[in-house]
Amino acid sequence: MKFGGSSVADADKIRNVARRIAAARESGDDVVAVVSARGKTTDGLVQLANEISDRPDPRELDMLLSTGERISCALVAMALHDLGHQAVSFTGSQAGIFTDSAHTKARIVEIRADRIREALEGGNIALVAGFQGMSIDGKNVTTLGRGGSDTTAVALAASINADVCEIYTDVTGVFTADPRIVAGAVKLPRISHEEMLEMAAMGSKVLALRSVEFARNYDVPLHVRSSFSPDEGTWIIKETPDMEQAIVSGIAHKSDEAKITITGVHDQPGVAASIFTVLADALINVDTIIQNMGSDGRADLSFTLPLDELSRARDVLDTIKGSLEYTSITADDQIGKVTLVGAGMKSNPGIAAKMFRVLSDKDINILMIDTSTIRITVVINRRDIERAVRALHDAFDLEAEATRRGNV
Ligand code: ADP
Ligand code: ASP
Ligand code: MG
Repeated sequence: MKFGGSSVADADKIRNVARRIAAARESGDDVVAVVSARGKTTDGLVQLANEISDRPDPRELDMLLSTGERISCALVAMALHDLGHQAVSFTGSQAGIFTDSAHTKARIVEIRADRIREALEGGNIALVAGFQGMSIDGKNVTTLGRGGSDTTAVALAASINADVCEIYTDVTGVFTADPRIVAGAVKLPRISHEEMLEMAAMGSKVLALRSVEFARNYDVPLHVRSSFSPDEGTWIIKETPDMEQAIVSGIAHKSDEAKITITGVHDQPGVAASIFTVLADALINVDTIIQNMGSDGRADLSFTLPLDELSRARDVLDTIKGSLEYTSITADDQIGKVTLVGAGMKSNPGIAAKMFRVLSDKDINILMIDTSTIRITVVINRRDIERAVRALHDAFDLEAEATRRGNV
């Protein structure tokens, strides 16, 4: 059972979480519960670091950020004790979660869950601080990237062969779009791994991308549901040949993106390789890439990246200005992305055309386009994002479509 930040935001909510865990234990299950930092604690810690330094050292940032989850899991353990249960809390490293050394976005490489197993065998409920681990050399505390407690939960579930991994959050499941933006968004009873991966990658933060990868790769039954209601939520499932494929299952959006354009690079082999190698070495997550022919043997290259990596990317690109001889670099920090996801797109042409038409009718300008077999993404101005999501939700009639599929 994994509980997100808003589910443990205050003392009453922590007691509510403890009651949910206790009920599961009393029904006869062994329970490992992963908890996130309370409320906006992690945001507060990031802000604190920024008050001290413009460029906080990533190792020290991880020392700081990992504290939020430790607080919550100790508090939930105390609440469980008061309900008469045996419970022990563990940090990520005590839980045996080993990662690579990429501070602030480390990847889990191994889980040695012996202490968790021992705790369960001793009749305890095990509480694990989400979002963190220990570098595989055993030297440093690492964190898994924002939203990473989901990943802790699914990876642990895989490693101890759990029957199910339940993600408890502040919404009742995965919706056709972010319910905070689209009033008519509806809960999907099921969604395939492939579609959920696209939704998560393209900004639906209800599940962290890596957690969905773990669920798919290790066959972990994954259930997203509400901390505050007993209702069934959304099951993330393997796609089967007889599954009905919605043309559009959901809409994801990202607001915190930026775009860099490098003009006048030499139009010759090796140039793109050099640019994206330095960015990859700096662990910058480049996304949509477009290259245009310029003139006089020169080309222009644009790509998107997370807004908070923009200044680092510019620094890195400055270091190769001499060797690449590009003309200029410009950045746009006012962009975002809207994505339609649906497995049925594979066999239905015309979805992109309809999407572009809907946006043009709203006078929304498209800056870049990027597609896969089951998604279409447009890069647009940040201020247009919410309007675009609502217009597309309406135009593709997702409310009626999802309701109909829920009934079959
Ligand atoms: P937690 O703190 O429990 O991990 P998050 O804030 O990370 O919760 O994720 C839940 C939030 O994700 C919801 O409050 C909702 O606003 C947002 N969200 C975005 N897209 C979706 C979607 N398609 N379905 C459900 N929630 C979504
Ligand atoms: N507390 C971390 C964050 O806010 C991890 C998580 O909530 O999953 O990103
Ligand atoms: Mg989350």
